[in-house]
Amino acid sequence: MPVWFLDLDGTLYADATGLWAVISHRINLYLQQRMGLSAAAAQQTRQRWVSTYGTTLRGLMAEHPHLADPAAYFAFAHDVPLGKYLQPDPRLRATLLQLPGARWLFTNADAPYARRVLRTLGVEDVFAGVVDIFATGLWPKPKPRAYHQALALSHARASEAVLVDDRWENAAAAHREGWYAVWVHSHTAAPARRDAVDAVIPAIYALPQQVVQQVQSEG
Ligand SMILES: [Mg+2]
Repeated sequence: MPVWFLDLDGTLYADATGLWAVISHRINLYLQQRMGLSAAAAQQTRQRWVSTYGTTLRGLMAEHPHLADPAAYFAFAHDVPLGKYLQPDPRLRATLLQLPGARWLFTNADAPYARRVLRTLGVEDVFAGVVDIFATGLWPKPKPRAYHQALALSHARASEAVLVDDRWENAAAAHREGWYAVWVHSHTAAPARRDAVDAVIPAIYALPQQVVQQVQSEG
């Protein structure tokens, strides 16, 4: 049986909802306030940290450990009225219920926020559990330790694990770890990027048609 690990932001709901843009803006605001940066400098710092360390929080922890308070960071970034951006998604629920095997949420965010999003989308009960950034010892995808910890917590083997994620770096890392890696990407993908993952789908709703059979025939 496959064990499904589904990313949250940009995967279970689309960027077009506007939610991620608001959270992203609040992350920049947090850096501006904590570090005394201009909006432009905060944005630049963040881009550098995400490419160097995997996430903004990890960059903050590495370069300004005295400023890094993960719980405060998430509380600020996720202080957003979710109902303004998201609503129950019966199509998502039907999609997830068609995935055979256990389903885990696997996110670089914190579990309280993740559970709020799942409840708002109406899918909290279809997940066996949430592997959040605290559960991985603050190691984010695409760091190998995050994947190892997710397997340990779910008692799964890499050969049965499937990652579904909208970030290419995260999917490629899962592929290197021996997982079946599904990249959720609605634009044309460069061949080199395609080749580094196992499947590319335009939206999560395509999982039953485009991925389930392949996963089952591999396993
Ligand atoms: Mg994502």
